[in-house]
Amino acid sequence: MTPMDKAKKTLKDVFGYDRFRPGQERVIAATLTGRDVMAVMPTGAGKSLCYQIPALTLEGITLVVSPLISLMHDQVHALLQNGVRAAYLNSTLTPRQFTLALDNARRGVYKIIYVAPERLLTGAFLEFACNAQIAQVVVDEAHCVSQWGQDFRPGYLSIEPFIRRLPVRPRVSAFTATATKNVKEDIMRLLQLQNPYEVTTGFDRPNLYFEVRREKNRDQALMAFLREQKDKSGIVYCGTRKAVEEITRLLNENGIDAVGYHAGMPDEQRRQAQEDFVSDNAPVIVATNAFGMGIDKSNVSFVCHYQMPKDLESYYQEAGRAGRDGEDAVCCLLYHPQDVRLNTFLIEHSQEESELDEQTQQIVMERAKERLKQMTFYATTTGCLRAKILSYFGEAPKEPHCSNCSGCLAAAAERDVTREAGMIVACVLAMGGRYGKGTLIKVLLGEKDEKIRERQLHKLSSFGCLKNEREFHLRTLVDELIMDEVLELTDGQYPLVKPGPRAREALLGDEPVRVSFPKEEQQKTRRSRVRMKPAVDKKLLARLIELRRRIAEEQHVPPFIIFTNATLRDMAIKRPKTRSEMLCVDGVGENKMERYGLRFMLTIQKYEVERM
Ligand code: ADP
Ligand code: ZN
Repeated sequence: MTPMDKAKKTLKDVFGYDRFRPGQERVIAATLTGRDVMAVMPTGAGKSLCYQIPALTLEGITLVVSPLISLMHDQVHALLQNGVRAAYLNSTLTPRQFTLALDNARRGVYKIIYVAPERLLTGAFLEFACNAQIAQVVVDEAHCVSQWGQDFRPGYLSIEPFIRRLPVRPRVSAFTATATKNVKEDIMRLLQLQNPYEVTTGFDRPNLYFEVRREKNRDQALMAFLREQKDKSGIVYCGTRKAVEEITRLLNENGIDAVGYHAGMPDEQRRQAQEDFVSDNAPVIVATNAFGMGIDKSNVSFVCHYQMPKDLESYYQEAGRAGRDGEDAVCCLLYHPQDVRLNTFLIEHSQEESELDEQTQQIVMERAKERLKQMTFYATTTGCLRAKILSYFGEAPKEPHCSNCSGCLAAAAERDVTREAGMIVACVLAMGGRYGKGTLIKVLLGEKDEKIRERQLHKLSSFGCLKNEREFHLRTLVDELIMDEVLELTDGQYPLVKPGPRAREALLGDEPVRVSFPKEEQQKTRRSRVRMKPAVDKKLLARLIELRRRIAEEQHVPPFIIFTNATLRDMAIKRPKTRSEMLCVDGVGENKMERYGLRFMLTIQKYEVERM
């Protein structure tokens, strides 16, 4: 069996998947031939398997450097569930636990060890690593090594010296979702990657609809957005803990089942909130950016940012948590110019307790400001939002307009209405400026009612001059002309429409008039992509979810670590009755088959018997 055949077998037997995703196979093949790897893949692409599969195929131990304790924790638990011997070494272990884990590691108990960067150069760990066979060093979230990156972490700078101390240089692979050129170059240089195999999978997520709403009243804008989402599940990201609490209250008061999540909450409460959300008990979670890393909930249908984040890296990572199941999903950013001021303030005060020298602090701060500027461009652009994101990450957009973002829809809905504007002004003049908006629109449309007959308005030459327009468009147009001072609205209880200071210009048609028609209309033109998906029996799925919840409780792990939603859905469609049928379900490997297969098959059988 070639190493690649072995890798494919591992994909199926251990992880239960039939096919590699784009990029995975190439990365694994390169690693197996002994090459270093520089992989840039977006959130949700499946980076973990790219190093976990080689780890199981190669002789020796794989070390994974990871920045986040929660991430390490989840990854290790997920691996254990699949029967992979793995452990983590970080500050949550007591000295005794640490020594114990290291003893196990020395005895070759673990194939994969997750380690915090700060541990690498400490005595005991270094001593272990120098005497063990290290096959591979993996740098997860590798952008943390770069001062250009959004999460610069000084501890990452000890990775390269650590590798140099090892008696035999292992293959080194770096993974990140941040693809800007500077960051990538920094990673390769600072980690001293040797002729790395470079992979960048496409950053586009075609099923995500991007939208920016620039509105004065955020709370109203948020409620309007959530009403459009109806019963769907999603995340509302807030900039501060205080905002999380306020928004959670606002949503609850408006009858939305939302839970709050931020780092300042007691552990137990936070765990509960996460579980309620992941297990679909609460459809909406309101959270700071502390929420999301390592969360594997595939049916997130929307991500709404209540405030603008500090850069596009953060934004795309957080927004990218929507639609990981491939279904259409919405990413909405509520923008207010105030966001720029708040972020600038945060950047200026972010280095106060930093250990960096002054010059480096200055550089880090300037780069943060540059990133904020790019984020602000995104929030205020009138062009294609997707094109803006992709070009920021160094990818040429396939087409200048994606037709699946609010920028593109607004552009499509913008019309040249110079001729119509002139006709409206002429009509207002003919009506002598003595009528309100409603009557004006009736005359334009050519609608006869009693009042119009009485006042002989149907005899005007302007009567019905825009009869082919939609009433909705005419209202928008008249409002725009009032805003542009082409028309004027008098004060009082019955405001009258009169010609404004710029009426003459419009009448002559010197200046082109363009108008964007508002959202209600645009929604209808939104590209809808119909996909054929086999129907899932919702009741059966609910039973499987309930069983998963019980097992997760018994095992003290989050439900998605037992099986993902995608796996349960596939199970509800395939309804396996035998061991080998169960192994055909996406995401069921041998270990999980042994552990849970029977219980799930029994639940399915029982359900079918009841329905007979
Ligand atoms: P990333 O780290 O790139 O954000 P993960 O490694 O967490 O992504 O993977 C995201 C999800 O995709 C996980 O649920 C994982 O089990 C699943 N996944 C990874 N590779 C495959 C594959 N080849 N087939 C099906 N699902 C996969
Ligand atoms: Zn677009």
